[in-house]
Amino acid sequence: MHVILPDGKQLELQQGATALDAAKAIGPRLAQDALAATANGELVDLMTPLPDGANITLITKKNPADAAPLFRHSLGHVMSMAVGEFYKTKGYGPDAIKRGVGPYIENGWYQDFDLPEPLREEDLPEIEKIMRDIIGRGLDFSRREVSKADALAQFPHDPYKAELIEGIPGGEAVTLYGQGDYVDLCAGPHFPSTGKLPQSFKLMSTSGAYWRGNEKNPILQRVYGVAFATQKELDEYLHLLEEAKRRDHRRIGREMELFFNSEVVGPGLPLWLPGGATIRRELERYIVDKEIADGYQHVYTPVLAKSELYKISGHWDHYQEDMFPVMKLDDQEELVLRPMNCPHHIQVYAYKPHSYRELPIKIAEMGMMHRYEQSGQLTGLSRVRAMTLNDAHIFCRPDQIQREFKAVVKLIQDAYEVLGFKNYSYRLSLRDPGDAEKYFQDDEMWNHAEAELRQALKDMNLEFYESPGDAAFYGPKLDVQVRSALGKDETISTVQLDFLLPQKFDLEYVAEDGSRQRPVMIHRGVISTAERMTAFLIEQYAGNFPLWLAPRQVMIIPIADRHNDYAWELRDELHRAGLRAEVDDSSNRMQAKVRTAEISRIPVMLIVGDKEQEAREVATRERTPEGHKERKGVKFDDLKAELLERYRSRR
Ligand code: ATP
Ligand code: ZN
Ligand code: ZN
Repeated sequence: MHVILPDGKQLELQQGATALDAAKAIGPRLAQDALAATANGELVDLMTPLPDGANITLITKKNPADAAPLFRHSLGHVMSMAVGEFYKTKGYGPDAIKRGVGPYIENGWYQDFDLPEPLREEDLPEIEKIMRDIIGRGLDFSRREVSKADALAQFPHDPYKAELIEGIPGGEAVTLYGQGDYVDLCAGPHFPSTGKLPQSFKLMSTSGAYWRGNEKNPILQRVYGVAFATQKELDEYLHLLEEAKRRDHRRIGREMELFFNSEVVGPGLPLWLPGGATIRRELERYIVDKEIADGYQHVYTPVLAKSELYKISGHWDHYQEDMFPVMKLDDQEELVLRPMNCPHHIQVYAYKPHSYRELPIKIAEMGMMHRYEQSGQLTGLSRVRAMTLNDAHIFCRPDQIQREFKAVVKLIQDAYEVLGFKNYSYRLSLRDPGDAEKYFQDDEMWNHAEAELRQALKDMNLEFYESPGDAAFYGPKLDVQVRSALGKDETISTVQLDFLLPQKFDLEYVAEDGSRQRPVMIHRGVISTAERMTAFLIEQYAGNFPLWLAPRQVMIIPIADRHNDYAWELRDELHRAGLRAEVDDSSNRMQAKVRTAEISRIPVMLIVGDKEQEAREVATRERTPEGHKERKGVKFDDLKAELLERYRSRR
């Protein structure tokens, strides 16, 4: 047989040769350094026979990260062995430990166990220690192809293994991998030796998992680990996890009393508490005013419609999966909760005839919609079933597409400035022409829409990347991907070009020559849904909102009881000016009050004592990006004007 090397050279090998044989044939040094290989682009280990004629590349200790799935999975076997040794020290024989599956996953691996007594979190460091010892032993991984009967005989006391072995289809090889005295049923691939595994790993946690994911089955204990090629990467990952925990919008939402989920209301249907509602109202006021200034007309339309509406629009055929089931009424009427606002806005456009001079008509709404998201996908505010989208539909003439499209992009850029988004990129989302299920079929229409978008992007000199399969069913779109505090890109804004819905609803305008023409639709969302945006902002600011968004803006702290009246007076004045202010008139000491306000993430504190009261002044303590700044003897009226200015300019 032969294999082909990256430089195109053919290498003749014995029948059944492995990547290790290939490495040896090239040179002893390479055989020594090799960790794994790819054969026709797929990761393989050094002990599995290569397919004849395969294109192979060897992965060496120079780029261990390329073999990450292999070292992660192999560390899983090492952990499994270590758990056996750990229980041995507690007096259990090898048969007392039974094992479910143990695949590699993103960043690490897990392994399911049925253990004689549960493993505790405190035991994990001990298991890690044994793992490091096993790595130090430099045990070679070996691979063996066996018959089902032999495999069954290998695990006489493990019903899980027996079930897995029985389940392997006839004709498929049954393989065992082992290191030292440990053997497991496994399809591979693996590292050559425990000695070559990275030490930069960590056991993270344990949880319960039903055997085969079925809740009728016994519950197994699942142990998770993470591993990276270098300690630096591991440290970065662990740091990111800490940050994720610190910024988690669900935790902060609880701490700051922004929103909650009620069991009896149902999953994915969050309730906004006054604090969260304040953030949402600020966002809505901002964007609605901005849109009105930009010529949008805001409307209110119902969250329900006859299913007929969605049959005409095509949502019925292309979006059914995301919709709640229909409500059948007594008199044969069928209603559905809307998953999108477009058809309603189309009805608003069609309410009366329009002339070319009126266009563009921009219909906007903070439109509530419902989507039947899978329960496993629901997360806090970021993925919900009832949501309110900052939505608008622009109805324009074909010659206005470019201008309107650019105006939307400008609006998005302005909004991002105010929201503090600096790190974002543009994604041109195109259809997958092969997917007739998801996309309306009309090549000419798609090509035309795509060409229009490309032209506009080119004119604006926007850098973008393309993503086939991410378009809406009715047309291509520009998605704006904003980098979250944790480095993940999320779609926040979207601009979609649509020739299809105007056609389906037979929309028209009267052209200059008196003829009836078809308008074009641009669907656009700037600040996404109130839900997802709020979740995003909570995480971006870790709950430390700028003044304009902070649900609680000012805490006035009287030093002693005799300053309470003055504090209340200031509070009332700030209220009248439109600011959100409170007084902490508890019996706590001043330092404790400051601490409480800080924990509550209130950006501005005004501290008042005798001196301040006499001169109608305040001492301030304000949060800054670096920490905080303090001032003494500030005239209250000056401070009020300053805060108002900050609030109005949304800082
Ligand atoms: P996703 O891919 O996240 O499901 P989508 O592509 O279906 O979103 P659109 O139909 O473009 O989203 O909806 C407009 C906006 O609504 C998106 O930008 C997204 O931010 C937001 N959104 C979509 N689904 C949800 C949801 N379940 N919860 C909260 N916001 C959502
Ligand atoms: Zn394995
Ligand atoms: Zn729409």
